Amino acid sequence: MTAPFLPPVKFDLLKVGHCQHPECIALRGGGRRAIDFPALVGLIEHPRHGLILYDTGYSRHFNEATRRFPECLYRIITPVSLPPEEELLAQLEARGIRADDIGIVIISHFHADHIAGLRDFPRSRFIATRKERSLREKAGRLGRLQRAYLRDLLPADFDSRVCHAEDQPAVPLPTGWRPFESGRDLLGDASLLGLDLPGHTASQLGLAFHAGHLGEVFLVGDACWKIEGLDQDRRPSRIAYRLFDDSTDYDDTFGRLVQLQAAATAPRIIPSHCAQTWDQLGGTTHVLRE
Ligand SMILES: [Zn+2]
Repeated sequence: MTAPFLPPVKFDLLKVGHCQHPECIALRGGGRRAIDFPALVGLIEHPRHGLILYDTGYSRHFNEATRRFPECLYRIITPVSLPPEEELLAQLEARGIRADDIGIVIISHFHADHIAGLRDFPRSRFIATRKERSLREKAGRLGRLQRAYLRDLLPADFDSRVCHAEDQPAVPLPTGWRPFESGRDLLGDASLLGLDLPGHTASQLGLAFHAGHLGEVFLVGDACWKIEGLDQDRRPSRIAYRLFDDSTDYDDTFGRLVQLQAAATAPRIIPSHCAQTWDQLGGTTHVLRE
């Protein structure tokens, strides 16, 4: 049987813009003061498969896609800050990386703050779940907006460049990952495993791997918003649940993450919008092209 998480990969966390919401939205019982929700992106260097992104964060395409009514409501409700130096292409360029060097973009889910930069990578392949992709597309213009999905953010040839996680073989996870038992082998060498994290959206794709300097890492997208939520078993507000695809699935996924986080063998769990995680891990540079 293939051993999971070999080979280890290089990994950096990037912040590509942020928005603000009251703390109590992300953590039940929290204050009403606005806190930052950074849009975090994973940059991975695999020894054979090269450079890989997990999500893209915000981009200027978000502004273009929210110019007209009703899509402008998205930008009004969620004001976004994206200084030029935080744009993803600028951050990659500062590391000597061109857009065409990114071979694969793994998509956690299709909310705009995770896919806004996809059109900047015209030669990359994409990996996403088929279930997530097909459900996003069906809802009509207002329905798509209610689901925080902006179709204009997808490249026109997206469907010819995407591979679906469900089509890859399942690989057992180490026992230290219980209650999570298996993941989809996204690259065929068990180095990157995709885990289904339903609830926030229908079929969100988490990512598990071994980063040399951090040990085992679990990128969980929006399955929880703040790592404090897992440490203290504090879920998002009831208002936030109205935005989730399935409350029961969200609670089940969140509960499993709380259990994993409490284990002595827990991997480093990284939510996509956690300021505390960004404070601890942001700014390190392990992926660099001369
Ligand atoms: Zn989301």
